[in-house]
Amino acid sequence: MTDDSEDRWSRVLADVRAFVAEREWEPFHDPKNLAMAVASEAGELLSELRWIEGPESDAHCRDPEHRQAVIDEIADVAITLTMLADRVGVDLPEAMHAKLVKNREKYPADEWRGR
Ligand SMILES: [Mg+2]
Repeated sequence: MTDDSEDRWSRVLADVRAFVAEREWEPFHDPKNLAMAVASEAGELLSELRWIEGPESDAHCRDPEHRQAVIDEIADVAITLTMLADRVGVDLPEAMHAKLVKNREKYPADEWRGR
């Protein structure tokens, strides 16, 4: 990551940790509960797109009437995922980078482009 993105990620992580600490929620945040929270928030995100036809979903997400709700649920997924990663000692940006390296090996662009 660049210095700027490291600073931004450090601020996000500190903000998430403060949110949890201020509420003394650590005892409830075991990995199983946080994994369920990620899935629950992913379900809330999905519910924002329920019954929207696939080809219409881009327009739905840009529609000012629905956009903020979609943004909020994307953020909830990211927040709960950040909580889970932090609880189990995973550097989330590093884990994402490492997994993308694996995924590039598994799905070579020349072989998988467009399919
Ligand atoms: Mg939510």
